[in-house]
Amino acid sequence: MNTTKSIELFNRAQESIPGGVNSPVRAFRSVGGTPLFIQRAEGTYLYDVDGNRYIDYIASWGPMILGHAYAPLVKAIQEQAVFSTSYGAPTELEIKMAELIRSMAPNVDLIRMVSSGTEACMSAIRVARGYTGRNKIIKFEGCYHGHADSFLVKAGSGVATLNIQAVPGVTASTAADTLTCAYNDLAAVEQLVAENKSQVAAIIVEPVAGNMGCIIPQAGFLEGIRKICDAEGIVFIFDEVMTGFRLARGGAQEKLKIDADLVTYGKVIGGGLPVGAFGGKRKIMEMVAPLGSVYQAGTLSGNPIAMIAGYTLLSILNEQPKLLKELNEKTVYLRDGLDKVLKASGTPYVINQLGSMISVHFSDKPVTNFASAAAANNDLFKKYFHAMLKRGVYLPPSAFESWFLNNAMQQEHLDTTIKATEESLKEIL
Ligand code: PMP
Repeated sequence: MNTTKSIELFNRAQESIPGGVNSPVRAFRSVGGTPLFIQRAEGTYLYDVDGNRYIDYIASWGPMILGHAYAPLVKAIQEQAVFSTSYGAPTELEIKMAELIRSMAPNVDLIRMVSSGTEACMSAIRVARGYTGRNKIIKFEGCYHGHADSFLVKAGSGVATLNIQAVPGVTASTAADTLTCAYNDLAAVEQLVAENKSQVAAIIVEPVAGNMGCIIPQAGFLEGIRKICDAEGIVFIFDEVMTGFRLARGGAQEKLKIDADLVTYGKVIGGGLPVGAFGGKRKIMEMVAPLGSVYQAGTLSGNPIAMIAGYTLLSILNEQPKLLKELNEKTVYLRDGLDKVLKASGTPYVINQLGSMISVHFSDKPVTNFASAAAANNDLFKKYFHAMLKRGVYLPPSAFESWFLNNAMQQEHLDTTIKATEESLKEIL
């Protein structure tokens, strides 16, 4: 595989961009080697600057549900762009977007647009704190809710990949207000809440975790948290930045049949443009300025280009429910195919899958939380990643990330992936 131009660009990038990338997970730090610089993408394929083609399992970390350069989306963006790229004043498009999300997702009475998942989660906990008059939040080890100070405590994704234990710059007092426990450990949540009686404003969770690989909530975990929140007046926040409009039209709330008080969305609702949103029950969201006094704002929030992209994508998913159904079926096909070749290889493995989120951990024990994901053979994952890349399959460059399927994938792409796994395992084991 010739990656000469990527190597040149990476060397050049490091002169002017920290670590050569604008977001750490892109840097291939944990798997080693040079990140590939992408020239374009279409359907299910990424093309790098050296002309190599890859089946894409990153999907821009979630949003490319229908594949890259999806024609109706591109057209909608082009048509909107001629009317200018930003006004800093309200548009009807923002109302249509809010109405559409309200019609698709449960428990969203009011919703505010922002420009990233980080902003969405950061704002949601501010609202929860304002609403309850309490300071502490509970998050789960290995969950990632963006890079706001409060969330950089035992965080997943790049923080876990780079093995950063405490993030310099996050003050001790901020970190002290973030309580953490293991994912899927309801008893630990009960204990934390009891030890911090009437001090916990919110419990924030990835309802299906995607930032320590894919990790599925065990039966009773989220239901139990819901009960605790009801009993203790705690705001239950679903971070649906990855799961929203992907696992089902109504996201994880619909798929798992659990109600959240506040929900955060991200990349998916911008169809690949910078968008996030937080919304939820009216009585809580009424705290948000200018209706209430929890201040939150953004010059580019509700940006028309981002709105038209998101609105177009969500409308298609809403009007054609078969698309998400097909995507889920394709993921099950991939899971079964991977299962077969992994089993035949004799190496210990775990495949976690729900909807179109899936990941492989090389572990002989179930992977149900961050500790079990971290205890897996992640050196083997690195080798697997490179062996797959060489065969034209681009997996996330870390075992602490979920893979995302896109619906441009056809059986041939899934078969290629399964075959590449079979060959890769023969090469690396
Ligand atoms: N929440 C979750 C669940 C995420 O996966 C991410 C990003 N991967 C975020 C929040 C933060 O989103 P962003 O990178 O857009 O700030």
